[in-house]
Amino acid sequence: MNLQDLYRDVILDHNRQPRNFGPLQPADAHAEGHNPLCGDRLTVWLRLDGDRIADIRFEGQGCAISTASASLMTEAVKGKDKAAVQALYERIHALLTDPHAQADAATLGKLAALGGVSEFPARVKCATLCWHTLNAALEHSADAVSTE
Ligand code: ZN
Repeated sequence: MNLQDLYRDVILDHNRQPRNFGPLQPADAHAEGHNPLCGDRLTVWLRLDGDRIADIRFEGQGCAISTASASLMTEAVKGKDKAAVQALYERIHALLTDPHAQADAATLGKLAALGGVSEFPARVKCATLCWHTLNAALEHSADAVSTE
């Protein structure tokens, strides 16, 4: 099995059986994301322990890329603090948008499977939707005193 087949299998597996799928109750923060280009919709819930993501779940309806990306993201960020999540997102964004970026499987783990998306620029927003939604949830949690 070559690397491309392996990556395709990871995407298909996480689309068919999304990890951490379903509402998180109680949650410290949540955010909703929408990608109008494709019709993907996601909600991400977080439970925080200080600066660290103690638990994360998501729910939504969308294409295989958006669902698999969110599933892979929840596995990757659980237990990480905000700085580590931001650093990971920057690596993922480079992987998704630069066809010459090398998938650093050692640090990205299964998220490296999303590398093939860079060949389909129209799908990049499908793969990044969950990360934007996660960032929005983390920002909301920062001003928990807001009357919003
Ligand atoms: Zn999509």
